[in-house]
Amino acid sequence: MRPDPLAYLGQELDSLRQQGLYRCLRVLDGEQRAHTSVDHTSVVNLSSNNYLGLTTHPLLRERALETLRTLGVGTGSVRPIAGTMEIHMELERRLARFKKTEAAVVFQSGFTANAGTVSSVLGREDVIVSDELNHASIIDGARLSRATIEVFPHKDVAAARAILQRLPRQQRTLIITDGVFSMDGDLGALPDLCDLADEFGGIMMVDDAHASGVFGRNGRGTVDHFGLHGRVDIQVGTLSKAIGALGGYVAGSRSLIEFLFHRARPFLFSTSHPPSVAATCIAALDLLEQQPELIDRLWENARFFKTGLQVLGFDTGVSESPITPVIVGDAALAMKLSDRLFDEGVFAQGIGFPTVAKGKARVRTIVTATHTREELQFALDAFAKVGSELGILKDAGAYPT
Ligand SMILES: *Cc1c(COP(=O)(O)O)cnc(C)c1O
Repeated sequence: MRPDPLAYLGQELDSLRQQGLYRCLRVLDGEQRAHTSVDHTSVVNLSSNNYLGLTTHPLLRERALETLRTLGVGTGSVRPIAGTMEIHMELERRLARFKKTEAAVVFQSGFTANAGTVSSVLGREDVIVSDELNHASIIDGARLSRATIEVFPHKDVAAARAILQRLPRQQRTLIITDGVFSMDGDLGALPDLCDLADEFGGIMMVDDAHASGVFGRNGRGTVDHFGLHGRVDIQVGTLSKAIGALGGYVAGSRSLIEFLFHRARPFLFSTSHPPSVAATCIAALDLLEQQPELIDRLWENARFFKTGLQVLGFDTGVSESPITPVIVGDAALAMKLSDRLFDEGVFAQGIGFPTVAKGKARVRTIVTATHTREELQFALDAFAKVGSELGILKDAGAYPT
């Protein structure tokens, strides 16, 4: 018999098991909701990016169904051949209006939006100046571009400036940051980086995946939040998180978008969204424009839960968003905390290397607009119990209920 050439993968998995880092996929029994059933266990769900609860919103569901009936389930082609329907164009016009830019283009995901844009806009002669904690899709896009990648320490604008200063005057550069960092929940140094882009003539790009639908007026993102309209050349957003469906987009000048129509490889070589997905996203934009109180509710819940964790004595790092990490350091301990919380009816994923740095392992929580106070209090009680049980909390129980 032929020896298995992939045997080394099994050995890697064994090693993960020995370190307590082997993970089974958690499986939802039903819908993606704030309170749901996962692996046949009823849980308060603090693991999704479903910020506004739109994954199950009746309006979005209705529009998707309507569109399935009228336009079918798929597009049968990539965008530049025969896969562009009027509804894709409508979604892009709506996104451009929402982001206050000339134009927008939709990709299959936020990942492909970043990777496809960075890799096509930059080339071998160029330099990419990138925050060290930027999302994997930015890093992959940067590698595919073959540009020189200069990484600056997280939010260290002085270090970014030093990089720019030693480049030749005519050097084309892209300065890029996440709007909200997904593992720590802090905001990127966007205003200061915009100043650098002005000073050095760089292209400014922000990835607002976790900021879309969360920050700015009606959830327009960090550019709106910081009042930076007109100063960020490339804005990426996702339709997979707060928007509740699937996809990513780039908003910017007409020439940027038309260039991406011609050169972005996921746009050119991967099939477009089913029309029902585009319809769902348009419905979500209607909601953001008409019911911004959904976003207010998200923030009230975020403040309640974050304060609760801090009062308990957990290390929640530097979060400024509805993402609140509970940092415990050791990866096996983070997995243990997550597993014990699950036993107590709280679903919050443990996250370790390589998603976060070694020694910075955590359980990450994300609240949504649709959690009730009772659900959030239930989760805080579970954190208190398990936190002291595992020795993460020193003097447990000393918090107001
Ligand atoms: C989630 C995320 C993405 C990817 O978005 P998808 O639509 O899920 O592909 C990109 N960038 C950041 C910062 C993210 O958090």
